[in-house]
Amino acid sequence: MSEHLRETRRRRTFAIVSHPDAGKTTLTEKLLLFGGAIQMAGSVKGRKAARHATSDWMALEKERGISVTSSVMQFPYEGRIVNLLDTPGHADFGEDTYRVLTAVDSALMVIDVAKGVEERTIKLMEVCRLRDTPIMSFINKLDREGKEPIDLLDEVERVLGIQCAPVTWPIGMGSRLKGVVHLITGEVHLYEPGRNFTRQDSTIFASIDDPGLEARIGANMLADLRDELELVQGASHPFDKDAYLAGRQTPVFFGSAVNNFGVQLLLDFFVEHAPSPKPRATTTREVSPDEETFSGFVFKIQANMDPQHRDRVAFLRVCSGRFDAGMKALQTRIGKEVKLANALTFMASDREIVETAYPGDVIGIHNHGTISIGDSFSVGEALNFTGIPNFAPELFRRARLRDPLKLKQLQKGLAQLSEEGATQFFRPLMSNDLILGAVGTLQFDVVAYRLKDEYGVDASFDQVQIATARWVHCDDAKKLEEFREKNAMNLALDAAGELVYLAPSRVNLQLAQERAPAVRFSATREHA
Ligand code: GDP
Repeated sequence: MSEHLRETRRRRTFAIVSHPDAGKTTLTEKLLLFGGAIQMAGSVKGRKAARHATSDWMALEKERGISVTSSVMQFPYEGRIVNLLDTPGHADFGEDTYRVLTAVDSALMVIDVAKGVEERTIKLMEVCRLRDTPIMSFINKLDREGKEPIDLLDEVERVLGIQCAPVTWPIGMGSRLKGVVHLITGEVHLYEPGRNFTRQDSTIFASIDDPGLEARIGANMLADLRDELELVQGASHPFDKDAYLAGRQTPVFFGSAVNNFGVQLLLDFFVEHAPSPKPRATTTREVSPDEETFSGFVFKIQANMDPQHRDRVAFLRVCSGRFDAGMKALQTRIGKEVKLANALTFMASDREIVETAYPGDVIGIHNHGTISIGDSFSVGEALNFTGIPNFAPELFRRARLRDPLKLKQLQKGLAQLSEEGATQFFRPLMSNDLILGAVGTLQFDVVAYRLKDEYGVDASFDQVQIATARWVHCDDAKKLEEFREKNAMNLALDAAGELVYLAPSRVNLQLAQERAPAVRFSATREHA
């Protein structure tokens, strides 16, 4: 096998998705511990303050206890290279999550044992289904009382419409939690709070017939367990790798992230069975990760990741070939060859300069405003990766400046923050207003906070009479000009200079569409 194939096959690029509070951050931290990416001290105990320090950068996240931005973490495990892309948990950041999911090959879903399938879990599942993304599930917080495991599997199957294949099965729950049985290897892993960090640190029995087990959990519990396992094996599906890879079946694990219990079993199974980088579609053809010529696309941009550096970083997923520091690649949208120097890799919050990267890896490239979300980079052949949309925002506000002398900084801040994609920035043709669009109200607070923190601008956001936005296109230049003249009051330019119709109401939008049949109104701006 060539070095390229070897490196590609050992990559595992995935995201963890969950309803807020299910335990995504905690699980992320535990996975990083196994990868040696962060130190054990202070983390295993799950200290509140330290909890957010790893995957979250911003002070705001700590204040509110939510993840606002996504981050990328790479770590080696058992001969594999794992790339974990963090997704924001809050409902307002769905778009960002959506785009992160375009850059992964599989996902891990965390479910709270007491809450079961929650509203956000359902939405995320819908997004995963769009691409048949393979999903593993982790039922978390087994150290607390929750729903019956068998009922939970039923709920996942019924509500999420995906077959469940339990891989581990809990012995008890809450204060009676004794451990889990691995249904494929037959091993029993005991739950020992304060331990269970690694295999070496855990008590493991080869099977439920091991006499040591009865001594530990008692004859009654063992008898119940035998009955339950019989029931489970009769009623559930065995693990079927093809069904998993096709997104039809989810292997299910039980555990407690905060106690580090059941996590290594999940990780071991994950690196063995989760898919290595998959082919990606472009406008012209499918690109295989086995190809040796470099290509990739930008799925996320983040400003001011490091307040000391005041920079913007574009996150690029490598789709084929090898990235070498300093190499040149064609940026398809602008048709220019650019030098990709000083690429970054992400070890939790540490940034390191990378020399090489392979398909599945995510690198950070410095962006001076010339890179947009959705941009493709390739060597030789011009390629345009598809499927990374910009959604029309549903909420609009007009930026109001408290100090008029800071107008330049405000414009710059709004433009740079909107490059990240969570908000969109519009400049109406007929006024000097600065309009910000978002899909959730929380984003306005985030922008106001960051404007102050990162740009020293004190701004607030006022209500404005805009109901929705549509990107407008017309193949006939004359008709477009006519449309522009007639509708100038409602037209604006987005941050990329594209023409957008800002409709004061749905009815207005409908009328505008009826009056200009030659003009296309689009609710998404597909990048590139
Ligand atoms: P996220 O919003 O999905 O990222 O969830 P967090 O990881 O921030 O966890 C939410 C809360 O659940 C925190 O207070 C965690 O300490 C707690 N938590 C996480 N895992 C467990 C667990 O296994 N058992 C218990 N009892 N609490 C947990």
